[in-house]
Amino acid sequence: MSESTKQYDWRERPVGSLKGVGPEMAEKLARLDIVTAGDLIRHFPRRYEDYSQIVAIRDMRPGTVTFRGKVERVSARYARARKLHITEAIISDDTGTVKAIWFNQSFLAKTIPKDTPVLVSGELKFRNNDLAMQSPTIERDEEGVITRETARILPVYPETEGLSSRQLRRVMDAVQPLVGAVDETMPEEVVGACGLMSYSEALREIHWPADAGTLERARHRLAFEELWLLMLANLATKRELQSEIGVGVEFSADVAKGTIAALGFELTDGQRKSAWEILQDMVETRPMNRLLQGDVGSGKTAVAVMAAVMALAGGRQVAIMAPTEVLARQHAANLEPVLAALGFGVGLLLGRTAAADKRALAARLAAGEPLLVIGTQALLTDNVGFADLALVIIDEQHRFGVGQRQNLKAKSGWLPHLLTMTATPIPRTLQLTVYGDLDVSVIEGMPPGRRPVITKVIDAVHRDEAYALINEQLDHGHQAFVVCPLIEDSAALSDPGGLGGSGGAEAAGVRSVTAEVARLTKGPLKNRRVGLMHGRLSADEKQAVMDDFVAGRLDVLVATTVIEVGVDVPNATVMLVEGAERFGLAALHQLRGRVGRAAHQSYCLLATTQRGQAADRLRALERTNDGFRLAQIDLEIRGPGQIYGRRQHGALDLRLADISDAKLLADVRNSADAFLSDPALVVKYPQIMARVAALQTITSLD
Ligand code: ADP
Ligand code: MG
Repeated sequence: MSESTKQYDWRERPVGSLKGVGPEMAEKLARLDIVTAGDLIRHFPRRYEDYSQIVAIRDMRPGTVTFRGKVERVSARYARARKLHITEAIISDDTGTVKAIWFNQSFLAKTIPKDTPVLVSGELKFRNNDLAMQSPTIERDEEGVITRETARILPVYPETEGLSSRQLRRVMDAVQPLVGAVDETMPEEVVGACGLMSYSEALREIHWPADAGTLERARHRLAFEELWLLMLANLATKRELQSEIGVGVEFSADVAKGTIAALGFELTDGQRKSAWEILQDMVETRPMNRLLQGDVGSGKTAVAVMAAVMALAGGRQVAIMAPTEVLARQHAANLEPVLAALGFGVGLLLGRTAAADKRALAARLAAGEPLLVIGTQALLTDNVGFADLALVIIDEQHRFGVGQRQNLKAKSGWLPHLLTMTATPIPRTLQLTVYGDLDVSVIEGMPPGRRPVITKVIDAVHRDEAYALINEQLDHGHQAFVVCPLIEDSAALSDPGGLGGSGGAEAAGVRSVTAEVARLTKGPLKNRRVGLMHGRLSADEKQAVMDDFVAGRLDVLVATTVIEVGVDVPNATVMLVEGAERFGLAALHQLRGRVGRAAHQSYCLLATTQRGQAADRLRALERTNDGFRLAQIDLEIRGPGQIYGRRQHGALDLRLADISDAKLLADVRNSADAFLSDPALVVKYPQIMARVAALQTITSLD
């Protein structure tokens, strides 16, 4: 695969330098994220109009048709009563004659080519008991024109205001002659073995399809490549991990029993099964890389404790990393008594932990004391110096980067077992693609005694009902959340949880929660103690607000979505989400998980100003408490790019691949596996391995 610079030149050219693309057009293209000629060529059609079948007029049936003929007559008139300019043409071929009709396109009368062979494509419809072509496209039938608007499979592109598919086809024509010279991007061995179309041919066929068969092959080829690279990255990570040396943690039934006793409850079947899978992995000296999935409230922490205690009992050290300080503190507070009962110490290490305390903790770790250290990212960045780190547990974060893992290795000399916990349900197909390097355990079922959260979608104009319910719950001594969306930034809302947010969006969110607190305390929640939580608060301020809420010094917490995913305030029984239509279903399900964490009946109210489809989508939350089901619905409605944030990291820049295509996934996986298993191929294609390495460093999808 020689990558001569010649081809890269044209793809890096700004679109503005292409023939027929002026500054105004370039600006419109930029709105579609098309800046270079390369972006343009990767702007794939959304669908196609098939005008490729040419028929005789006599054989035409209603629907999409194309025929070859000659325009006999054109007439134009103005229908005063209907205020319509009507243009009519009579077109004939050897077999018959058909009428064509256009409305309010009076200019056509002058431009329709007469007395010359033409191609006509469009819709044949019944009109006044007669069949007529409705607003067809007519072109001279000339040799050698590739990019006609008739008599071919016509691509329909994702459009933007003021930029139609027709115009996009014109712009695309400017690069058409260059496409043939594009080098192959996949190894010729793979292209050959899998019977794939070449890259340049696929590009040409996707934009200028010769027929339905070649178009399908082009789509297959491009979809294959998208998934192939992703799969290579996952398999490469998995292989690298398998060649690493970890530390085996011996299983002891007594320790397991003791841990359950200290937890104070029986494990659910789902917890027991997951814990068993994890403990079996940990016995091996090959480092574990396992994802523990469990719906909100399914009890992932208890499973993590089972694993942690086993390592501690073996004389090793364990780290738990939480995404925020609030969560880290909460874990420490919950786990300290459990571990103390078993005779193990817990250390808390945050970015702002006093230097002296850090040093003291580091000294204990360096001495090899079996300790559980709970912290944030600071665990990785500070020079903590674990002497004997056997297990790292990551809570509520999707992925741990290759680099971050190597960082842990440097400290302990071996690679610790890795357990990642998430409440974000990941459909099986995504597991195979994006998370293909991980083994997965799923906690099925919930701890006993939970009552499902009663969820109701409410029209925002009926908010008073929501406040009545909130006040009623507060009167019973319970607490409430009011969640406001981040506004004015769609990007911030397209991440997996919809729980991210920074920069401008967060600023807008701050304004809206601040205004909301003022409005609520003057009106519907007068005389209640209302707290405010958003991402612009300092860590200390956040902690103070959380402490007040947990201790019951606040009745209501008004928050942007920064309210921590794992926050556990069992006394909170009602949540009102404003602007609910702005969130994905899975994100709302996560938010809803902040209530209903004890035996009390809890409520989740989803306020929206939208009606119709948007409100219907939200009603899925009324019907089910199953996070997996909701994630699946999300995936179907919004597509993986929307949910898993393709623009942010390009991890899932799947333009053509359909990850629900099990056959494609299996073929790609086999091919990627065969490629990696052949050292000669890996050496032969350093450029490919560089692209794979770049994908491997992606640590998080949100
Ligand atoms: P999540 O999976 O959302 O992280 P947690 O681990 O925070 O859930 O557990 C939620 C709550 O359920 C906690 O208060 C925990 O003590 C409790 N819990 C977990 N497992 C069980 C169980 N098997 N029986 C009873 N309560 C449990
Ligand atoms: Mg949790």
